Amino acid sequence: MTSYDTKRLRCYCCGKTSEQTILMSTNSFGSPDLDQRSAGMERSTIDTWLQECPFCGYVAFDLEKGDERAMTFVETAEFRAASTDPSPDPVERRFLARAAFDVHCGDRRAAFLSTLSAAWVADDRKALSEATALRLKAAAHLAGHRIRSMDTRLLLLDVLRRASSWEAADALTTELIAEELEHPFAEIVSFHRERIEAKDNGRYTIAEALAGKSKAAG
Ligand SMILES: [Zn+2]
Repeated sequence: MTSYDTKRLRCYCCGKTSEQTILMSTNSFGSPDLDQRSAGMERSTIDTWLQECPFCGYVAFDLEKGDERAMTFVETAEFRAASTDPSPDPVERRFLARAAFDVHCGDRRAAFLSTLSAAWVADDRKALSEATALRLKAAAHLAGHRIRSMDTRLLLLDVLRRASSWEAADALTTELIAEELEHPFAEIVSFHRERIEAKDNGRYTIAEALAGKSKAAG
């Protein structure tokens, strides 16, 4: 059961209050997708993950919270560009504004995840070419740097595959396979390799990836 509430929140950046929808509870029964998008009702709560101040445009998970970096960010040209972006979807634009803030803070992984969330919004709108462009944009936040986190590398692998970026996805798969991964990572990477070879950019859950492997092995 998903439930919402509305509250008046005071913006951390400009101090003005606005009414915001707050997600009170939801569920995520079922396997998440390979890019860790949750299943169940939580999937459709994406429009409440970020709040936006209607006065100054500050975007945050909680409008009442922030720090010095949030204050300086709303003064930048990057912020103005992101918050006035003529994106066809306001929820998508909020995630991209958040990604711009993540970049401002030097947090590349957060920028990757915020942009991936924007791609999910495009998925839901069935805006396929836009979703692809957003996945490539998400991946670009991680490009040129060594990623240590296995979690992030597996997410990136799915983002590249879903964006039909076959060469980059294949290169990452080869790199991961050479590392002799353990369960369940080995099975997941192996599933990706098969899907990449088949040039399949479809959406799969982690459970499907694991079952696919066991079927092939059996
Ligand atoms: Zn504000």
